[in-house]
Amino acid sequence: QSDYQHLRTLGANHLNKGVGRITDGIMVKGEGSYVKYDDGRKYLDFTCGIGVTNLGHANKRVSRAAAEQCMKLVHSQCSIAMHEPYLRLIQNILPVMPHKSLDSFFFWNSGSEAVEASLKMARTLTGRQNIICMQGAYHGRTYGAMAVTKSKTIYSQNTHPLMPGAFSIPFPYWHNMNLPPDTPVSKLTEQCLYQLDLLLAQQTHPKDTAAIIVEPVLGEGGYVAAPKEFLEGLRRVCDQHGMLLIVDEVQSGYGRTGTMFAIEESGVRPDMMIIAKGLGNGFPISGVISRRELTDKLAPGTVGGTYAGNAVSCAAAAEVLEVFKEDKILENVAVRSKQLFKHLESLQQDPTLAPYILDIRGRGLMIGIEFASRTGIAPTSTQHEVGIVADAPEKMASRVAKKCIEKGMLILTTSVYEVVRFIPPLNVKEDDMKKGCKIFEEAVREVVR
Ligand code: PMP
Repeated sequence: QSDYQHLRTLGANHLNKGVGRITDGIMVKGEGSYVKYDDGRKYLDFTCGIGVTNLGHANKRVSRAAAEQCMKLVHSQCSIAMHEPYLRLIQNILPVMPHKSLDSFFFWNSGSEAVEASLKMARTLTGRQNIICMQGAYHGRTYGAMAVTKSKTIYSQNTHPLMPGAFSIPFPYWHNMNLPPDTPVSKLTEQCLYQLDLLLAQQTHPKDTAAIIVEPVLGEGGYVAAPKEFLEGLRRVCDQHGMLLIVDEVQSGYGRTGTMFAIEESGVRPDMMIIAKGLGNGFPISGVISRRELTDKLAPGTVGGTYAGNAVSCAAAAEVLEVFKEDKILENVAVRSKQLFKHLESLQQDPTLAPYILDIRGRGLMIGIEFASRTGIAPTSTQHEVGIVADAPEKMASRVAKKCIEKGMLILTTSVYEVVRFIPPLNVKEDDMKKGCKIFEEAVREVVR
């Protein structure tokens, strides 16, 4: 205990304050759906380290695969020699690709790096500079990724100019468009695609536009699934103008939404797909997957990096896919998703809570619950009336999340709107889901009271 006290003091004095944090203390152990802290606190973890430890903390099979690889070869550097786990990972991942054409792989460490690689490849391959992204998108904190991140100004405040040539259109999300929650998705989609046409006519000529980048389920921006028609529309516009469609599945991929990749539901074919997070279940690894006919045109050296496709991370990631198959992870996602939706919907049917619950949405185990706000988001001359309920508790989502943490469950909010997001482990057990629902309900009731 005293040693931890010493470490806590060290942290208080020497940690970079630029990192935000939702709990204090030191996390010392993780097992399945639970984590423990230095002072004995134990939490049900419905954050999964932001959608990473999808097969539970310290998954035994994944950890064992990494440990075994550690004793064989830790690092080779991808430009010096190829190693076995990299190729085993490709072997395991090829059959789960949402489209046969996605057959060329480059692994890196983080989601942001993979986003950077995809933007660079898109620019190089098309000879065009501009990129179109979505309002509310989150793609990372490096300079290119930050330029296409439009979820919260804090990420880029005081850092401009970012990578030039990033344009955005609205994502079909009622709140972003100042429309009521029950606005038909067809109307939202139509408006957004109209804005895309307008953008290409007014601001970035198609011949200057390399790619469109989109999250099939908007993550940080509010946990909103893109309608199929919207994704089809983006594909159509890309085909029409020779632009590439980049799909960022960093958070939505790897079973999170009930299919292996969220884009599958739409049937839309991406030109590039970005994966990370659940890919390594905690071991740092990301990937850009594209088409051979595209990447064969890249000069050697276009992409790379010291730790790109590290052997230990690749071995862990290869094992992740084995666990997926054997433990029937997607089947668990389907039943636990129903369980969670059912509970959240029962809260919405309660007349004391109903006025404050605007929307319950998402897919699989990537679920958001949006609460009412008292003031709206824009302190400008345009009064945003949507989503405002005069007597709603202030900062409802963060207060609910804080209460959940006090009651023993780690949970996160999303960006500018009042959204609490559920990202439990994909192999979460029925009882743990029940416990999570109970804690959440108590928290909501206490905040509303
Ligand atoms: N894209 C999406 C959709 C993400 O959710 C994230 C991380 N939250 C990133 C990219 C960036 O990944 P990383 O934090 O690993 O750089």
